[in-house]
Amino acid sequence: MAFDTIIKSGRVVTATDSYVADVGIAEGRITAIGQDLPQQNAAKVVNANGKLVFPGGVDVHTHLDMPFGGTTSADDFETGTRAAAFGGTTTLIDFAIQYKGQPLRKAFDTWMAKASGKAVSDYAFHCIVTDVSGGQLQEMNSLVSEGVTSFKLFMAYPGVFMLDDASIFRALQTTAKNGGLVCMHAENGSAIDVIVQQALAEGKKAPKYHALTRPTTAEAEATARAIALAEMAGAPIYIVHLTCNDALEKVREARDRGLPVYAETCPQYLYLSIENFDVPGFEGAKYVFTPPLREKWHQEKLWNGLKCDHLQVVSTDHCPFCFKEQKELGRDDFTKIPNGGPGIEHRMSLIYSGGVAQGRFSANRFVELVSTTPAKLFGLYPRKGTIAAGSDADLVIFDPKRKHTISAKTHHMRVDYSMFEGIEVTGMPDLVLSRGQVLIDGDKFLGRAGQGKFLRRSTYSQVNG
Ligand SMILES: [Zn+2]
Repeated sequence: MAFDTIIKSGRVVTATDSYVADVGIAEGRITAIGQDLPQQNAAKVVNANGKLVFPGGVDVHTHLDMPFGGTTSADDFETGTRAAAFGGTTTLIDFAIQYKGQPLRKAFDTWMAKASGKAVSDYAFHCIVTDVSGGQLQEMNSLVSEGVTSFKLFMAYPGVFMLDDASIFRALQTTAKNGGLVCMHAENGSAIDVIVQQALAEGKKAPKYHALTRPTTAEAEATARAIALAEMAGAPIYIVHLTCNDALEKVREARDRGLPVYAETCPQYLYLSIENFDVPGFEGAKYVFTPPLREKWHQEKLWNGLKCDHLQVVSTDHCPFCFKEQKELGRDDFTKIPNGGPGIEHRMSLIYSGGVAQGRFSANRFVELVSTTPAKLFGLYPRKGTIAAGSDADLVIFDPKRKHTISAKTHHMRVDYSMFEGIEVTGMPDLVLSRGQVLIDGDKFLGRAGQGKFLRRSTYSQVNG
């Protein structure tokens, strides 16, 4: 047996197992796992003694090169996938946006062009559907056959992205048949818009009012409604960026009834709170994203949800806008602040640190949350999301002891601030491989733009049915 690389004597951690072994890689795939793989047959041997070996992270919620509110998110597919790799994430699922009146095909082609020649690691797309009045339901079937097997719908942003309940229901009936998965932005956008207009009329225009005009009840109501519509349609549903205990209770209740209901949260909701708006002047704009930050007590509820499988995935909702010139567009009116925050680089370390190093859950559960379950739900498993013979050699050699203080001064995202500035994490990637190629070695980037490939995904029901 010949290998391109052997990762020697690391502790291999999957969602279910943890053991010391060698991992052999040939032609971009894992071809053997065992004790004392023959080193004389390997072009390269990496000593991982004392380190953890994780499957590469899978981040299923990112917005690279995305137009929003008159500007564009600050990372493109090159800088975004590179920053992700520095943090141990080697697969992204980004969103191709269909604007009203357009075919879904146009969204897919547009985002394929944005990524092609740029991505340094593998990527796929969900399709955002904002209009189903012109044949888009049939188009959902053809996209599924091309490997775009999940669709994001919005219950927020009336007039822009929001779909009415009838359209949502018909889309859910479509995925019930074609095996795909609907991802839902669950907030009651109509009620929120009334609250926002009333706040503006009262002269409440500072960044914190973005959060204060989007109550947790609006998220919980939409979460419950999304689940009910999915149940009626006989379809699974995935709630994106869940932020609060009220919504979490709706998901838990549905899962207790045995429904195929899933939800993700993001590191910002686990580490930050509405108290982050207590900063001078316009600085709070750094924390303007949707759904907003909540009162601090929700954080521990979300951590517990991750532990107890009421929440199944941690993604980032990475959508970076620079403070200068981008966030500043909303200096006089919080509704003009581009919504989004940068997080693609620090998901693995933040969740390992807060979850495993602080004793909330096991390293296996960590792998499940950041790699295995996202790969399974979105049809990438077992190619991605685990360490097994035949899987892609997307691997992270992780130092569980190394400490790092997050800062915009040292991060690799193309944005001028960090949401997590000054937070110290325990656990950092030493070496990151994508299909057997070293992308990151310490603080060095060794990959190249364009080496990432588009991933045609199986459907939710092919992997989980
Ligand atoms: Zn998003």
